[in-house]
Amino acid sequence: MRERLEELRREALAIVAEAGEEARLREVEVRFLGRNGEITGLLRQLGSLPADQRPAAGREANLVKAALQEALDQRRDQLQQASLARELRGEGFDPTLPGPPPPAGALHPLSQVQRRLEDLFSSMGFLVADGPEVEWESYNFDALNIPPDHPAREAQDTIFVRAPQATAEASAAAESDGKADGVVLRSHTSTVQIRALKKHGPPLRVVAPGRVFRQEAQDATHEHTFHQMEGLVVDRGVGVAHMLHAMNSLLEGLFGRKLETRLRPGFFPFVEPGFELDARCPFCDSGCRVCKGSTWIELMPGGLVHPNVLEACDVDPEVYSGYAFGLGLSRVVMLSYGIDDIRWLLSGDLRFLRQFPS
Ligand SMILES: [Zn+2]
Repeated sequence: MRERLEELRREALAIVAEAGEEARLREVEVRFLGRNGEITGLLRQLGSLPADQRPAAGREANLVKAALQEALDQRRDQLQQASLARELRGEGFDPTLPGPPPPAGALHPLSQVQRRLEDLFSSMGFLVADGPEVEWESYNFDALNIPPDHPAREAQDTIFVRAPQATAEASAAAESDGKADGVVLRSHTSTVQIRALKKHGPPLRVVAPGRVFRQEAQDATHEHTFHQMEGLVVDRGVGVAHMLHAMNSLLEGLFGRKLETRLRPGFFPFVEPGFELDARCPFCDSGCRVCKGSTWIELMPGGLVHPNVLEACDVDPEVYSGYAFGLGLSRVVMLSYGIDDIRWLLSGDLRFLRQFPS
C-alpha cells in the first residue's frame, strides 16, 4: 500500500507541476482527491490492513493528501497570477470585441396598451388630452352632474386633498379668497373631458387616458390607483349609433378582430340615456374564467352626454349633443395579457415587468 501511495503521489505532483490551466488542476483534484478519487479509495482500504499497520498507513495517506492539496493550491495561485499579469500587459485583450449589451428597457404594459389606443383614436380624428391628477371637487363631480349628496363623494370613496367648506358661512368666506371648492385626487378621467370641452368648445372629439384614485379595500380586482381612458364627442346631431360605432372600432383595435357586442341600460349621472356595453368573450366560445361562464364581458359604460354637463361647459344642449364612454385601461391590460391580479400592475416588480418586452 505504501508503494502504491508513493506512486500516486509522484504521478499527481508531476501532473500538477505541468498543468497549464486551472481546468487541468480541477481534473487532478477530482481524479485523486475526489469522493471516488484514487487516494480516497486507498484510504478506504485501510480497514483491510492488519491492525498494527493501520495508524502508520493512515498517517502517510493523509500526508500525501495534504501535500497534493498544497501543490494544487500553489499551482492555481501561480496560474492566476500569470493570467492577471498577461491581462495587465494587454495580452489576450481585444479592444475591438463588442462589450456586453446594455439591458434593454421596455414600456410598461399599461403604456403599451395606452399607446395602441391613442394611435387608434388619433386615426379616427380624436384629440388625446391630458389633465391634472389633483383636481377641483367641482370638476370631478358638479360639472359631471353628480349631485352634492352622491355617495361617490364620500371620503370613503374619494381621496380628498382638501375638504370642501362645510357651512354656508365658511363657504362664503372661502368664496371670497377662492377656496370654497374642495380638492380631490381625481376619481375618474372624465374631469379631462370637462376641461377639454371648456377649452376647445364643440365640435370636439377627445380621449383622456390617465391615472385615477379611489379609496379602495385592495384585492385582486381593486387598487387605489388605476388607469382609465375616457372618450367624449360633442357635435351637432351626435347619437347612439355614432357611440356604438366608436366603441366597436375601439374593441376591434384592441383585440384585433370584430367582437359581437350588446348594449344594456346603465345609470351614470353624466349621461342620459346611459348604457353598459358588453362584448362577446374574446377568450372562449362556451364560457371561461374571464367571462365567468357567461360568454359576455362587461367592458365599457357610456351614453349620451347629459344636457346638464353640456351646460356646465357652456355648450348649448339645444344645438349640440354628444356621447361619452369610459374604458378601464387597467382592466383591458389584464384581459389582454391574462393578468389575474391588478396589484401586479403598479407593483414595480421586475419579475412581472420583464414578461412584457415592447
Ligand atoms: Zn370566456
